[in-house]
Amino acid sequence: MTKLCSIAIVGAGVGGLTAAALLADRGHRVSVFDQFDTPQPVGSGLVIQPIGQAVLDHIGAGETARTLGNPIQRMLGHEADNGRNVLNVWYDKRAGGQFGLAIHRASLFEAIYQAVQQRDITTHTKARVTDARSGMIHLADGKAHGPFDLIVDSAGAGSPLSPLKSTPLPYGAIWGTVDWPDTDLPMTNLSQCYRRADRMIGALPIGKLPGDDTPKAAIFWSLPRDSHDAWVKTGVAAWRAEATALWPAFAPFAAQVEGPEQMTMARYAHGTLRKPWSSGLVHIGDAAHKASPQLGQGANMALLDALALTRALDVASGDAALALYTKARRWHVMAYQAMSAAFTPQYQSDSRWLPVLRDRLLYPLSQVPPGPSALTAIVCGNMLPPLRGLGRV
Ligand SMILES: Cc1cc2nc3c(=O)[nH]c(=O)nc-3n(C[C@H](O)[C@H](O)[C@H](O)COP(=O)(O)OP(=O)(O)OC[C@H]3O[C@@H](n4cnc5c(N)ncnc54)[C@H](O)[C@@H]3O)c2cc1C
Repeated sequence: MTKLCSIAIVGAGVGGLTAAALLADRGHRVSVFDQFDTPQPVGSGLVIQPIGQAVLDHIGAGETARTLGNPIQRMLGHEADNGRNVLNVWYDKRAGGQFGLAIHRASLFEAIYQAVQQRDITTHTKARVTDARSGMIHLADGKAHGPFDLIVDSAGAGSPLSPLKSTPLPYGAIWGTVDWPDTDLPMTNLSQCYRRADRMIGALPIGKLPGDDTPKAAIFWSLPRDSHDAWVKTGVAAWRAEATALWPAFAPFAAQVEGPEQMTMARYAHGTLRKPWSSGLVHIGDAAHKASPQLGQGANMALLDALALTRALDVASGDAALALYTKARRWHVMAYQAMSAAFTPQYQSDSRWLPVLRDRLLYPLSQVPPGPSALTAIVCGNMLPPLRGLGRV
């Protein structure tokens, strides 16, 4: 039987809010703390994979997310120099089959936050947490809250509570949101173009923003992590010209970017906590494992962590529950972190030989059975059981 406890969630992002809703449903007393002034999301678009969509359904957020977001059937990327495909992954060729849900972060936040508001959950805004000790949460303004039986660290990649040491990746990307233009690119694809691995352009149709019916696109452009200032200095006109020369179909997307402030730089890092808990404190989502978004699994992993933690607390309590959560997620997290580390440099690095290997060997192999179905399983997030020993998602 579930031992009911008082739980503090630090960070009202994808993982934190979902954990809050799941834990409140079990009867736990849940308080959420976030640094933002009013509840809000950060950033542009992302893809929620089928397994992550199933977690959203557990808290009743799936329908709103699907109404606002846009279903993606396929990820298709080509090499700029010769036009040949070098990435081709289907979610499901059948109409009505599984799909990736491309969605603006604001829309995803809206869906999850609505679910939180329907439950008895206390939310503290303007609450920047600096420390958590002996069940107490300490804020930047000097106040403290608690004691709590459990503190869930879901404060993301920059969590002050997580001991995670990560390796910065050499490439990040600038991201922006524009209207989906008049274009031949299908709205059912994530479309990408690469030149070797040092240029990557993407256009992701992400559906609508709350309160705005215009279909949107998330666009991205790879940049070495320290070159954002140089990109701003060069000016967007030169960038538009370069991007359009590499990929003419990108022109109507790039044309909507008039100033550098429309594109936000995201830097990536890689690292995994071997033991994502200590007594009374547990880390989920990016606070427990960081990776580049190349495989599109970060939000998915945060959602799965939230579900695993909730299920572990259903059947155990205290340290035993946290150890169970860790065991349930270990192999799935390790496998996806390893694949992310292997795939990312093929698409984002200065390597000369990795893109050659990608184009000449890995891509052709990936198109021969069982390659296509293996790639589908990887992308959908269910290549390994994601909640080992804690049931199906
Ligand atoms: C550009 C980009 C594209 C991505 N694309 C994808 C994709 O396609 N698919 C996918 O699955 N993933 C993607 N990801 C990864 C995904 O966004 C993250 O993995 C996911 O958001 C992690 O969720 P989280 O709940 O751990 O943290 P977050 O969603 O980052 O939430 C952290 C929360 O903690 C709060 N917080 C931080 N510090 C404090 C503090 N000290 N005190 C209080 N509150 C605090 C923040 O305000 C925030 O609300 C992408 C990431 C980036 C950067």
